[in-house]
Amino acid sequence: MNMKKKYRQSDLIKVHNYAYDNHEDIARSELCGCFACEKIFFPYEVRDYVLGDDESVSALCPYCEEQAVISDASGYSINKELLEAMRKFYFH
Ligand SMILES: [Zn+2]
Repeated sequence: MNMKKKYRQSDLIKVHNYAYDNHEDIARSELCGCFACEKIFFPYEVRDYVLGDDESVSALCPYCEEQAVISDASGYSINKELLEAMRKFYFH
């Protein structure tokens, strides 16, 4: 199956939800990525989490320490194209 490489804004917003309170999502994912530095890594590489006042637990990127970690538990495969589209949408 060929993956579509174009992402709609609605896709990016959907994926972005998975950067927040994603402790359990990351535990059940196979691959993670950071849309701040565009690194792709395995769930076990995530060491640090941010605890929110609302008791949310959000992963920090093991490379750049941004709270910008998404995983394939979002339903989207993690690849360079997705991370680049996310970075352009949220950091520029
Ligand atoms: Zn990063």
